[in-house]
Amino acid sequence: MRLDVKGIINTPGDGIAFNEELDLSDVDFGGVRPAVRPVSVVGAVRNIAGMLWLTADVDTTLSCVCDRCGAPFEKPFHVSLERMLATELEDEENDEILLLDDGAFDLDELAREAFILNMDTKTLCREDCRGLCSGCGANLNLEPCRCKRETDPRWAALRQLL
Ligand SMILES: [Zn+2]
Ligand SMILES: [Zn+2]
Repeated sequence: MRLDVKGIINTPGDGIAFNEELDLSDVDFGGVRPAVRPVSVVGAVRNIAGMLWLTADVDTTLSCVCDRCGAPFEKPFHVSLERMLATELEDEENDEILLLDDGAFDLDELAREAFILNMDTKTLCREDCRGLCSGCGANLNLEPCRCKRETDPRWAALRQLL
């Protein structure tokens, strides 16, 4: 959604609230597309003493797959944004400032970017996920490793010789 803030640029104390749902189901992280549900983008642009400030909360529930054990699980996602809006950029280095284009900006693009930048690089079903045994493939969160029991009897015989 393109949000036009021209109407409040010259009126300190004024503001524009927004509340929208964004479809980010196409955003791909290494083959996984976790945003299966709509992403809510709620906030406002306010004119505070002649400066335009944007605040927004981006929320959804992600559908994830654990990097370690492969189990599917759900996880809340939240990020809070705060940006100053400006009609021209004086300091190119400052990425907290959002440049307006003809008194408007693309709210969807901003939320999409924040979503991607704030995604965890590692996705674990829980902090201490024990993962899968590389030998027997057992999910060590749920069951003990079967490697010992499944040892080939020929190897057992060889081990005795050694
Ligand atoms: Zn896991
Ligand atoms: Zn095992």
